Parts: sequence; structure tokens; C-alpha cells
Amino acid sequence: MKLPVIQEASHNVVEFDSFLDLAQPIYLDNCSTTKLDFDALNAMIKAMEINYGNSGSIHKAGQKAKELVEEARSHVASFIGCNSDEVIFNSGATESICSVFDSVMKTHYPKKTIISCLTEHSATLSKLKQIEEINYPKYNIKYLGVNNNGHFNIERLQYLLQQNPNDNLIVSLLAVNNETGTIHNNLLPAHGLIGAIELTHKYGGLFHIDAVQAAGKISLKPYIDAGVDFLSLSGHKLHAVKGVGALYIKKDIPFIPLIVGGSHENNRRAGTENVPGIVGLGVVASKKPIFGEEIKKLHNIFINELKARVPSCIINGGGLPGIVSVGFKYVNRQAIVMKLSMNNVYAGMGSACSSGIQPSHVLKEMKVAPEYINGSVRFSMSKYTTENEIRRAVEIIGDVYDEVRSWSKGIVT
Ligand code: PLP
Repeated sequence: MKLPVIQEASHNVVEFDSFLDLAQPIYLDNCSTTKLDFDALNAMIKAMEINYGNSGSIHKAGQKAKELVEEARSHVASFIGCNSDEVIFNSGATESICSVFDSVMKTHYPKKTIISCLTEHSATLSKLKQIEEINYPKYNIKYLGVNNNGHFNIERLQYLLQQNPNDNLIVSLLAVNNETGTIHNNLLPAHGLIGAIELTHKYGGLFHIDAVQAAGKISLKPYIDAGVDFLSLSGHKLHAVKGVGALYIKKDIPFIPLIVGGSHENNRRAGTENVPGIVGLGVVASKKPIFGEEIKKLHNIFINELKARVPSCIINGGGLPGIVSVGFKYVNRQAIVMKLSMNNVYAGMGSACSSGIQPSHVLKEMKVAPEYINGSVRFSMSKYTTENEIRRAVEIIGDVYDEVRSWSKGIVT
């Protein structure tokens, strides 16, 4: 059987507006989503074209599909640093997060204290808002604040856990903030202090990590070694496709599925498995992606060159190479992002999942100065980003800033 021949795109392309448009787009919105890995694409095509059986069927086509799913599971498990039977596949991190909260509310009833942080992704914040609104008796949801760099205080977490020590249900925190790249270092022991995972266990709670922006960039194994109970990751943030994700559930932690039906995923997530998506995620995971020196170098070039070109800009938070939240003074971020797009540079407004009209809740919590908060734009890199792209992007960003700023000069000076 002949498979279609696919050529790998030679650059970080999204789309040309027309054949007259010769400038290659520069995609710097990798926190929002990433380009599909070429090997994953080929494996997915094979899974759709040849091995298209239902992984639940007992005939050979079904068993081949099942084999592919289990192979992917073992790659994802080894990428996370856990056992295969601790991984379930689903539609992505939003589903994982909802599943974890819904499950622990049932398995650990009547505990009712949930702790998270005000700078979490909307997937967590919206779920917690829903829990707060519709459940009776009421859940006791508490939020950690952050400092100017986006870090929460471990002593504050201890204080919240001590309030009602027999009632602690779960603590859920990001490993890396999706808007600023701030790494929550104190999930693990740091500077001689106990880590948040261990601390939560000490006070009887479970721990979930939203590792969406950490996966593929830093190692997840330390979190597993520290005993985290649940960890969520999303395929499309690490060069697999949209609509597939993996949830780590620590061995022996009881789990009640959010979606029921067939016995898929060992009775923990019903619904016919998305075999091609899972295969793609397996291929990406088998490469054990991690950000190395190359991204660090690009990150530093970007910041240094940008600060030289636009001296009034600031960097909000930060920590993880490859994610830069830039505060541009006295401008509107929608204008900057739209103007950049017209110049073939694609940047992010912060979270792709929120409308972007309101100032970012993350930057507000970090108390970013008013003259910068509305002009904050996120630039995020991937393994496909090149130095040439970064240098070209900085020139374009500088010109775009000057133009957008000139519109508001005279109003604010
Ligand atoms: N958590 C974080 C930190 C994210 O960045 C995202 C996606 O933007 C999500 C959760 C939701 O992931 P998914 O798109 O797989 O539902």
C-alpha cells in the first residue's frame, strides 16, 4: 500500500497570505500551540491510513491499533517518569483538570478544602468557580497570591493547609505559568524549605500539577519522585496534535472517571480512543523533548536585542527559557499583536483561552504597573525557532512598537 508523500515544511510556517507575500511568518506563539512534529505527522498518517482499527475490537485490525496505543502509553510514561498503568489518554489538559477535581470530590468526600493560586490557567480557575457556584454544602476554595515575579509563598501555603488540617482535599498548581514562564520552583524543596507537594501530603491533601507548559521543556520526573498524585499535559503544546492529552494518576490513588461509557483506558476514561492523536503524542514523547542551551541562547538574544531596540519595555516574571512576557509602555496589546500579525510575526496575548480584552489576571496579581499591563505581549519559542527569526522579529517588533506608540503620543507621554 502506498502512503501519500509528505514534504516537511522548510520553515516555521503557518500560512502565506498570497504568493506575493514573500516574507516567511515568524511563529512566536508556541505557548498557545505548536507546529506538529514531522515524525508524529507521518506516524499519524499511517495510523489513519492503514492501522485504522478500533482499539477496542478483538480482530487483528483492532489489536494492531491497541498495540499502537500501548506503545504510545509506554513512551509517554517514560517521558513523564512513571509506569504505563499510571497514564490515561484523553482530549487534553482541560479535561484532565476537570476530571481530577470531579474525581477527588467523590473519592475523598467529605473533605472540602481546595487550594490553588490566583495566577493559574483558566482551565483551573473556571473549574473552581463552577465548584464554588454549584456545590452544596460549599467547598472551601482558597487561593494563593504571588509576588512581583509570579512566585507564591510556601509559608502562606502552610498557613492555609493548617487552617482545617482534616479537611484538605487537594492543592492544584501550575509547574510553569503559561503567560510569563515563571517556574513554580517551590513545588519541590528549594532553599532549604520543604516543597509544596510534600507539605500538602503532610497535611493530608492530594496534589495536582498542571504541567502543560513544563512538559517538553523541563523534566517532569522530579515531580513524580516528589510524590505528586496527578499531573496533566497537553499534546498540542509539545508538537503533537490538538485534542489529545495525558493524565498521570499515581498508582493506588482512587479515580472515578468524568466520562463514562465503555471500558476504555482501563475504565478511567470512556470513549473510543483517538488512536492517531495518541500515536502522535507517543512519537513526540519518545524523543524525550527538553529545552536545552539553544533555546536559552535564543531567549537571551531576544531579550538583549529587544531591550536595546525598545529601552522602555519591561520583562514580566520569567524563568523558563523560551517564554517572554514583554510589557510595552503606554500601548494596547491587541494593537501590537494585530500589527505584528500584519507584519508576519505571530505573538500571543497571554492566554489563548481568554478573550484578551480584559487585562491579564496573571499580570494584575503580579502588580505589573498600569502603563505596562495593557501593553503586555507574550513571545514563546519552540525547537523550530531560529536565531535568524529572533533577530528579524526584534526589528519588526521595534518598528511596530514605535508606530503603535506614536498613535498614543500626545495622549500619554
Ligand atoms: N493549562 C495550561 C497552563 C495551558 O497553557 C493550557 C492551554 O492553553 C491548558 C491548561 C489547557 O490545555 P488544553 O488545550 O489541552 O485543554
